[in-house]
Amino acid sequence: MASIRRRLTIWYSIALVGSMLAFATALVLDRRHPGDQELDQRLAAESGYVVRSLSESFRVLGRITSSDSVHSPLAPSVGSRLEGVPYPLVVVGPRHEIIFLNESASRLDYYSSQKLAALLRPLPDVIPSGTLELDPVIGRVRYLALPVGQAGPDIAGLVLAIPVRVQTLEPTYLLRSMLVIAPLILLGALGIGYWLAGTALRPIAGIMDEVEAITDGRSLHHRVVVPRSGEELVRLAQTVNRMLERLEDSFTSLRRFTADASHELKTPLMVLRAGVERALTHPGAPPEALQALDETLEQINQMAEMVDNLLTLARADEGSASLAVEDCDLRDLVAEAAETAGILGEEPAITVRTELPPTPVTLAVDRSRIRQLLLNLITNAIKYTPNGGKVSLALVDQGDTVALIIGDSGIGIAPADLPNIFDRFFRADIARARTGDRPGTGLGLAITKWIAEAHGGTITVQSRLGRGTVFTVTLPRVRPSGPGSLGGLVGLDGQARTD
Ligand code: ADP
Repeated sequence: MASIRRRLTIWYSIALVGSMLAFATALVLDRRHPGDQELDQRLAAESGYVVRSLSESFRVLGRITSSDSVHSPLAPSVGSRLEGVPYPLVVVGPRHEIIFLNESASRLDYYSSQKLAALLRPLPDVIPSGTLELDPVIGRVRYLALPVGQAGPDIAGLVLAIPVRVQTLEPTYLLRSMLVIAPLILLGALGIGYWLAGTALRPIAGIMDEVEAITDGRSLHHRVVVPRSGEELVRLAQTVNRMLERLEDSFTSLRRFTADASHELKTPLMVLRAGVERALTHPGAPPEALQALDETLEQINQMAEMVDNLLTLARADEGSASLAVEDCDLRDLVAEAAETAGILGEEPAITVRTELPPTPVTLAVDRSRIRQLLLNLITNAIKYTPNGGKVSLALVDQGDTVALIIGDSGIGIAPADLPNIFDRFFRADIARARTGDRPGTGLGLAITKWIAEAHGGTITVQSRLGRGTVFTVTLPRVRPSGPGSLGGLVGLDGQARTD
């Protein structure tokens, strides 16, 4: 199993060697055939210097050849000035004889120097500048044959040659090539590096996506896929999975504790309620005791409701809350709820309006859960609507979906509170609720949302502070893999649980 570190090192080394090879190859290719133009420029510059030297010497000395020298008829003082030319230079006299060879030209063999001198002959196939193959030591040269008129009758012209091979590695030209090639190679290396890093980090991005998909306590049963390669990645995935396992364990025990505690509290609460109710009917009880018992009973009822709600939510979290699904006409349930709303709204003089379609709206739902959903929304509507207000209930058949719309002209919900109202125990500004009503537990909407989602539906809310609130529950007519239709168990995420 290769570690990312080892893999990256290997790939990086390969990329580095590749870049270096590419750089070297590009440099060699570029320098192998330096532009003729580049060489001709050098030739022109050097020949200009030679012509100037010769003509100046001629002007000063009057004669620039020395007849007593066998090998170099050019005067030594003039010849020494021309030794500064770094490439082979041949100066030719009027009878096409060589009258001067500089140091690098004297290293040429006899035929090569004659070949260069011959370039000054006015023959039809001789051109004044071009490329020529000389002896094997110097190889190919770029030459310039230039007649010189300003240096007296003893000088016909000069031939200057630059070996192509030497020229290719001249530092200045090498640097120029490097400056062009290096940024290209650098760009390529950057691209390869970026790709390499992306490839090495891709599995980490995958793990991050998977962890990100685990958004809450309900998706803790998911596990990250352990990659097949990369020591570090395998360790990372295993560590994340172990952490998820521990988290799932703690969540499960927390849920179980809530469910168990709620369950255990139910019986004593029932005993308490029965006791208080019996005491209330005691014939000789003084009025103060009756009032105290009445208040106690109210508290017991509220506690029993909270315990009931907690148990429902804990079971939903565990995925053990069952839906007893059967076909039913939703109009009956809404009419029933409207009746309850009428009774609840009697005292605060709240008008309840109901709108039902004329034809049956039959849907496969858990009758008691939908009844609970409607009751939660209606009690809230009445509770948060001032005396004399309005509450409306509507059932709308939308074809593929059915909407239950519960509106009120009540106190409304502040925009900042809207995202939180479905959270457990969230209660916005309790002081604004109408006093005297059931105070509530802050669990009603959390349960309502669960019921809607367990049926494959959604719940939305629209509200304006001081103007009223509208809750819309949308239920699908067909739930393709609806767990409820199987009478199965439903978790808070509305998914069937088999575990
Ligand atoms: P509660 O038992 O406090 O009513 P819920 O979960 O049913 O708990 O509601 C949560 C909060 O949402 C309430 O405390 C209230 O602030 C707000 N709320 C719910 N329904 C309405 C409504 N019809 N009008 C105004 N506020 C509402």
